[in-house]
Amino acid sequence: MDTDNIVDQLSQEARLTSKYGDKPGEPRWIKIWVRDGFHCAYCGVNILQDVIHMTSAQLDHILPKSKYKDYMNEDANLVLSCYCCNQIKRAFDPLKDLSEQVKMNLSPATFNTYKDELLSVCRNYIIPQLNKKKAILHKSNEIIGRIDK
Ligand SMILES: [Zn+2]
Repeated sequence: MDTDNIVDQLSQEARLTSKYGDKPGEPRWIKIWVRDGFHCAYCGVNILQDVIHMTSAQLDHILPKSKYKDYMNEDANLVLSCYCCNQIKRAFDPLKDLSEQVKMNLSPATFNTYKDELLSVCRNYIIPQLNKKKAILHKSNEIIGRIDK
């Protein structure tokens, strides 16, 4: 099945949606879910593994929309993100960690050339904080397991 066909079916039959697009089944947003393989672009979790992940997934602006108005309507600047990664990232600006060369050359037209680098900076920011949350979860379950015994 080709991508357009998958997008059509997810749009019409499943009415898949995201927090960014307000209309259920909006093909423009579903194309991004398909492009990103239904996994969070930051932590890699499968967004379609359960209802919680599916209904709380969001489209995140790699370059925050608050600061980069030129990239607001660029689909290339949007990635599928799980709720947790998007909450950690918020308005984090990955561009400030990249070289002056990249800052000078980056434009909506050249965005895809630098997308992997920008995503990598975001992951380096998000993943350690996500791991702290996982440690709290693990510790909490360990304590609760002790209480049960
Ligand atoms: Zn994630």
